[in-house]
Formats: sequence, C-alpha cells, structure tokens
Amino acid sequence: MKLSQRILNIEESKTTGLMDLVQQMQASGTEVISFNAGEPDFNSPEPILQATIEALKAGKTKYSAVPGLPALRKAIAEKVQKENGIAAEAANILIANGSKQILYNVFQAICNPGDEVIIPSPYWVTFPEIVKLAGGTPVFVDTQDHQLDLEKIEAAITPKTCAILVNSPNNPTGAVFSEASLRAVGQLALKHEIYVVSDEAYAGLTYDGAKHLSLAALDPAFAPWVITTQSFSKDYCMTGFRVGFLVADKALVKAINNLHSHLTGNVCTFAQFGAIAALEMDPQIMLQMQETFQRRLDIAYPLCTEIFDCVKPQGAFYLFPNVEKYLGERFADDDALAEYLLKEAHVAVVPGSSFGAPGHLRISFSTSEENIRKGFERIKKALVG
Ligand code: PLP
Repeated sequence: MKLSQRILNIEESKTTGLMDLVQQMQASGTEVISFNAGEPDFNSPEPILQATIEALKAGKTKYSAVPGLPALRKAIAEKVQKENGIAAEAANILIANGSKQILYNVFQAICNPGDEVIIPSPYWVTFPEIVKLAGGTPVFVDTQDHQLDLEKIEAAITPKTCAILVNSPNNPTGAVFSEASLRAVGQLALKHEIYVVSDEAYAGLTYDGAKHLSLAALDPAFAPWVITTQSFSKDYCMTGFRVGFLVADKALVKAINNLHSHLTGNVCTFAQFGAIAALEMDPQIMLQMQETFQRRLDIAYPLCTEIFDCVKPQGAFYLFPNVEKYLGERFADDDALAEYLLKEAHVAVVPGSSFGAPGHLRISFSTSEENIRKGFERIKKALVG
C-alpha cells in the first residue's frame, strides 16, 4: 500500500475508534455504560422528523443549491441574529455536512502550507487533524482552569499565524469562555490581521445561568476576521442529519463555496428541510432537553467529585476531571485507566490525552440519570473499592 504524506500525517478520530470497541462489547452482551457519548441520547424531535418525511415524499431528493437551500440560509441568518446577536444575511451563511466539514472547508480556504493555527488545549480531537490536512501546523496553547490564557495566546502569535481557533462551550471541558476573554481574542485578530474561527457547536447547551456568547457579536469591527461555525447536531439532536453551517464575511463564504461545490455540493436536500423545521419548532422542545441535561449535571458533578478533582462545566455535556492521583504505580496513564474502566467496570470514558490533556478523562453525561448513578458507582468501586 502506498499512501500520501497527507494521510500518513493524520490519525483516526480516537473517539470514533473507542465507539467501535464499545459497540463490539455491547453486541457480545456486555452492559456497557456509555460515558463516551459525543451526542445527545434523545431522539430527533418529532417536528423535524415529520418535515423530513414530508420533504422525502414531496420529491425533495434531488441536488439543491450548493451553499444550502435559500430558505434555510435565510432562517439561519435570522436565528444567529436573534439568538447570538450576529449581524447576518443569507449570503453570510454556508451549509455543509456537519460543522466537521465546515471546519475542514474553512481551513482549506484560509490556511497556506506552513501557516500556524493557535489551538487552546484541551481541544476537540478533530481540530489538529483538520489543520494538518490544510497543510498547516497546529500550535497548542495551555488554558488556565479550562479558560483561555490570553498572554499565552498572544505570545504564540508569529508572522506565520493565520488563525486562532476557539471553542465555547468547549469539548472536552464544558468550559464557557468569558466575554472579556472572547473580546480580547477578537482584538488580537484585529491587531494581527488573523482569523478567529469560533466553533460554537454546543451554542444552545449551557447550565447554571451561564450564557453562551458569540465572539462575532461582541464588536462589529470583528466581522471580517471572525468565522463562526455552528451545527444542528447537538442543539437539535440531529447528529445523523449532518447539517452544520458557518457565518462569515460574504466574500469568504463565496470562496469557501467554490471548494464546497467540488467537494460534496449540497448537503442532503431533505435533511435541510428537517433543519428548517428545527428552527421553526416550539422552542420549548429544546428547553426541555436543556433542563434534562441540567438535572443530569446536578447528579453527575457531585458523584464525579467524590472520586476525581473536577472543574465544574458550564456547557456542552462533558465533565473533564483530573485523574492524576490514580496514575503512577497503578495505571501508567489516562489511556491505561480508561482501558481498565472499560474492561473491569464496563464504563466507557475517553482518555484526556485524545484531547491534548493527559491525566484527564472525558465523561459524558449524555445518558439517563439511572446510568449516570450506575456508572459512577461502578467507577468508584473499581478505583476506590
Ligand atoms: N465541534 C465540536 C467542538 C464538536 O465536539 C463536534 C462534534 O463532536 C463538532 C464540531 C462536529 O459536529 P458536527 O459535524 O456533527 O456538526
């Protein structure tokens, strides 16, 4: 087999690899508690399903406009204006196959070989690989208690920097970045004329009164330099629909659309009708889901801190405890600990090293209250006795 250097440079997503193993164990009859889930465990809401079925029956099964259905782009522009305060028209929106593909397209469009992209760490597994696929170099910068460290970010900027990539609410830490820190990142972008890519895939999931803020909305002067990415996956329980979008300067949207037109063309046409229904449905449906996640966090966090040291998350659906006190003699590293928990306690968690943070575990509370209690009981028994 002969492979390109581009492919040799990247790794399989560790979260996807783990899911395969868990599915194998479950298929062979083992009851595994899935604290590794990266998606809401609820069904997609009924109005979304109905609209998708109706679209299918109405023959919405053909190619459609490359950057997205005009009605969906318009509805997204209204949504980001109303909910996130981002000034946008349909021409500022591009729809792709999940925000994963959006991010791929974005870095293909803004990154030249050898350019650097600053990524605060811990980070979502896909960020560095997407930068490498664009020929760029990821430059990791530590966070402080999961919040952005502005001094370190500024110190990492070089003439080769093309972008800073921020993700709030954060995967894997659940951190929600403060207004002051987001504003400061925007100022850095203006000063150095570099992009900020603001991944807001969990924009609708915050807890304990924390408010998600879109960096692009904080100052109109940021507009040419901020690319906001959001998704229908987590907020609307539509992971399998593969609908994500970006909000950016119109000229940039046009440039990214050129790539998109050759790469995949439009996102699945009838899935986009489901996305329109998501934006039109009773917001109470999403509120109920958020309340369910809040109750789960209220249960999971105290149970987690009985075993591990953990900063309380304010968004997404992950806990990211420090597990260093269990490492050393008993377990070599977080990979070994995660393997032990899977094999001995039948609880699937994701090692922090997958997210550039060795000595941590990512624990998803996207599962029932019963499973949350059972999972932490098993972890406690396996580790503390
Ligand atoms: N960004 C973050 C931070 C994520 O955690 C994920 C998925 O896990 C994505 C983007 C991509 O989601 P999707 O491609 O389903 O929109």
